[in-house]
Amino acid sequence: MKIAIIGGGISGLSTALYIKQARPEVELHIFESKPNLGGTMATRDIDGFRFEIGSNGFLSNKPDTLDLVHAAGADDLLLRSSDDSRIRFIFHDGELQRLPESPPLFLKSRLLTVGGKLRVAMEPFIRAKRDDADETLQSFGYRRVGRQFTDVFLDAMSAGIYGNTPPMLSVNAAFPMVVALEREYGGLFKGMLKKKKKEAGPGGVLMSFKGGVGSFVEHLRNIIDAEFHIGNGVDRIESVNGRYRLRHGNAALDVDRVVLSTPAYAAADITADFDTALSAELAGIDYTPISVVGFGWNDLPHPLHGFGLLTTGASRQEVLGVLWDSSVFDDRAPDGRKMVRIMIGGQRQPELALQSDEDLISTGLRGLKSTMGIDTPPDVRFVQRWERGIPNYRVGHMARVARIRALAAQHPGLYLNSNAYDGIGINDCVRNSRLAAERLVAEL
Ligand SMILES: Cc1cc2nc3c(=O)[nH]c(=O)nc-3n(C[C@H](O)[C@H](O)[C@H](O)COP(=O)(O)OP(=O)(O)OC[C@H]3O[C@@H](n4cnc5c(N)ncnc54)[C@H](O)[C@@H]3O)c2cc1C
Repeated sequence: MKIAIIGGGISGLSTALYIKQARPEVELHIFESKPNLGGTMATRDIDGFRFEIGSNGFLSNKPDTLDLVHAAGADDLLLRSSDDSRIRFIFHDGELQRLPESPPLFLKSRLLTVGGKLRVAMEPFIRAKRDDADETLQSFGYRRVGRQFTDVFLDAMSAGIYGNTPPMLSVNAAFPMVVALEREYGGLFKGMLKKKKKEAGPGGVLMSFKGGVGSFVEHLRNIIDAEFHIGNGVDRIESVNGRYRLRHGNAALDVDRVVLSTPAYAAADITADFDTALSAELAGIDYTPISVVGFGWNDLPHPLHGFGLLTTGASRQEVLGVLWDSSVFDDRAPDGRKMVRIMIGGQRQPELALQSDEDLISTGLRGLKSTMGIDTPPDVRFVQRWERGIPNYRVGHMARVARIRALAAQHPGLYLNSNAYDGIGINDCVRNSRLAAERLVAEL
């Protein structure tokens, strides 16, 4: 039995591990088009500063990644974020303001006016939406918690997680748990109170890996018993006598099962001749451009006390946020030195993500000055541009994914699994990988 996983990001690698642990006898092939595994999970070391090219961690309030780490025997690689990283800021109305972590701090916060806070307090009295129709995060927020809360908190949050904006995101696809609170309990406050009673326990802690997320990818590479075809992208698949033929460069490999763990646009290319309807639906999932600019200092006077900041669209900044990575994880910069990563572009200003390296660095420096007052020239610089960084979960995304699943189901032995479909967080990717592996193994 030969199985191919196409795409060596966390989705492909965790699917591979779970399949191999359930059925050690299968012959597994992992194809990755780039020279390195990990996809958006990789770490670049520059003079001892460790810059994440994309994700820097996952929350511990969902069990999925922690379970994977345990299954991979990598518990000793886990790194907990510092307690100070619970301190977060929003740049709004021309100033940096602390994100309120409790109701009394929310009441004191200058992020909303008294009217804006009263509108949030009205939330339990707003009638629940009766239909299941998909809705933007903006329309959901305006209905339930009012304009101000949406334009400040939800706007900053959607930039921080999705590089996106509330009018463009489907709340059903991007925040299904929030929609479930309204549907099941009639409102967000009511739902949160009832859930808290049922599931008493600590909230999530941001977790990562010693040496950066790349060290976990490296570990997976070492323990997964598979043939790795790295720097060897699959161009297309064909159906041959009930099996799949993978064409890569001038070579071909016939396998019994295929898991497509690439971004949706790459899956669209791979299936273009194989199933045009499936390919067209996959190509319909567009991606948000986002770039990461990193700076390291040997001597920076700013204390970087906290996790970092997010900006609001109304604040008219050129940066989406600044993550104070050396304060969040203690091994990201050499002792006594500091580093940050700046997110630029997103759906708010996609063109800014696509600038030259030099212009991205200048944009990052201007963003630091205007949000934090930092003008100390950095000693180390890092740039990572993602022209198609994060899948854009628009209104209609879930219906499209249902059509994709129905079309894929017509091809027994073909599975689709990546952050393009049912969640972009590492926890989502790992959970969906485990489910895909279980389905594949059950159908062997
Ligand atoms: C800037 C940024 C910051 C992020 N921060 C966080 C965070 O802090 N926490 C979090 O939980 N999530 C974060 N995310 C999201 C998270 O990183 C991703 O959702 C997750 O890592 C995606 O994994 P994946 O395997 O589904 O896709 P990818 O990582 O995109 O992997 C897909 C792989 O397929 C390969 N591929 C493409 N075409 C082919 C082909 N034809 N043949 C073979 N291989 C191919 C690609 O090269 C790639 O390696 C971030 C994303 C970005 C862009």
